[in-house]
Amino acid sequence: MQFNQIQNALQHDEILQALAAQREVSWENPHVVSFDQAQHDTTLNRADIEDAAQRLQRFAPYIALKFPETTASQGLIESELVAIPSFAKTMADAFQVDITPKLYLKKDSHLPISGSVKARGGIYEVLYHAEQLALQQHKITLEDSYLKLAEPELQAFFAQYKIAVASTGNLGLSIGIMAATLGFQCSVHMSHDAKQWKKDKLRSMGVNVIEHQGDYGQAILQGRREADADPKCYFIDDENSQSLFLGYAVASQRLKQQLEQQHIIVDAEHPLFVYLPCGVGGAPGGITFGLKHAFGDHVKCIFAEPTNSPCMLLGMYTSLHHDISVQDIGLSNLTIADGLAVGRASGFVGHALARSIDFLYSLSDDEMLYWLRQLYKTENIILEPSALAGSVGFARLQQQGLLKDITAQQFAQGTHIVWATGGGMLPKEEIEKLL
Ligand SMILES: *Cc1c(COP(=O)(O)O)cnc(C)c1O
Repeated sequence: MQFNQIQNALQHDEILQALAAQREVSWENPHVVSFDQAQHDTTLNRADIEDAAQRLQRFAPYIALKFPETTASQGLIESELVAIPSFAKTMADAFQVDITPKLYLKKDSHLPISGSVKARGGIYEVLYHAEQLALQQHKITLEDSYLKLAEPELQAFFAQYKIAVASTGNLGLSIGIMAATLGFQCSVHMSHDAKQWKKDKLRSMGVNVIEHQGDYGQAILQGRREADADPKCYFIDDENSQSLFLGYAVASQRLKQQLEQQHIIVDAEHPLFVYLPCGVGGAPGGITFGLKHAFGDHVKCIFAEPTNSPCMLLGMYTSLHHDISVQDIGLSNLTIADGLAVGRASGFVGHALARSIDFLYSLSDDEMLYWLRQLYKTENIILEPSALAGSVGFARLQQQGLLKDITAQQFAQGTHIVWATGGGMLPKEEIEKLL
């Protein structure tokens, strides 16, 4: 589709009409091909994921020192995988679907340091940048213990440099905390969605928080402008960053280990279904990229977005990717799911995964809130609204007749993972409001 055909297509295309009318939409991606083919849609590969994993390993002693909550995991920023059978049963009953699969929650909501999935990609990119600077200026070598980074000399070194980022909240929180800990100056450009407590927390750490009236797209323009004007400022670009993407991709290796530890088999007869909330696309995209490398065609990746911000679904469906926004079809991009309030998807992710993301759907804010409360009631787990986007995925797939190459038996025998992306640091008052 060409952009100038959109207005015309809105007259007759059912999916576009439903998206524009804020209805819940489901779409199986017809462009999906086997991993053997699709892996060549990006120049990134398995070695890049391995490189990112090794970099996180080099930083692990430093992370363990600075963030004692990571001592148990020896400085790795990782989350639990837990079964949520009561929630699965409640969901299956509510939607009257036949199959109640083995349902798990990947609790990135409770990742150490910043309590959201951004503690993977966001923190990784800050570490990546810090390492590049320190290596270039001969402040460290790859063989050094990175505990050296905690010394005053290195702190003073990083203090000459600045990191800037634009965010709807969680990315800014992750990057701000890590950048401030290393000693960097840091500016976080927050969109209007960002929650007050996130801004307060960052300011308490000395981060410069700039509040914008506009949405994420506008905050990112301002952030880029600030960074362009200052040669010592590094802009973390959520829309295009490959290192952010690779930081997320490392999750797949760790998940593979967790599944093995829990004796969960993934193969053709026991596929893995992963339900991922999507904003700009970096987090679910990077995780999908990693999962496809880890499990090939035995993993199916499903992206979930709010009905008012279905930017990835719109970009993939029209094949316009970054060249169309939800505002272009009359949507407001206003949602309680602040982590997903993005009007224009990452072009880099859209192109890299155009033939890899298996299924995309949108859901209403009310659905997210409803299942937020149900998850609390049935499993005593609290998440932020965005993190519930994936929760209805297994029911949605059944309502849509599953995926074209998946039988009911494979679906029933498979393992289903709801990727919980945020909420671990919600203040008490916020939790009360949500419940
Ligand atoms: C950022 C975020 C997402 C989605 O990640 P993107 O990289 O923007 O697609 C999902 N949930 C929460 C809570 C987030 O903060």
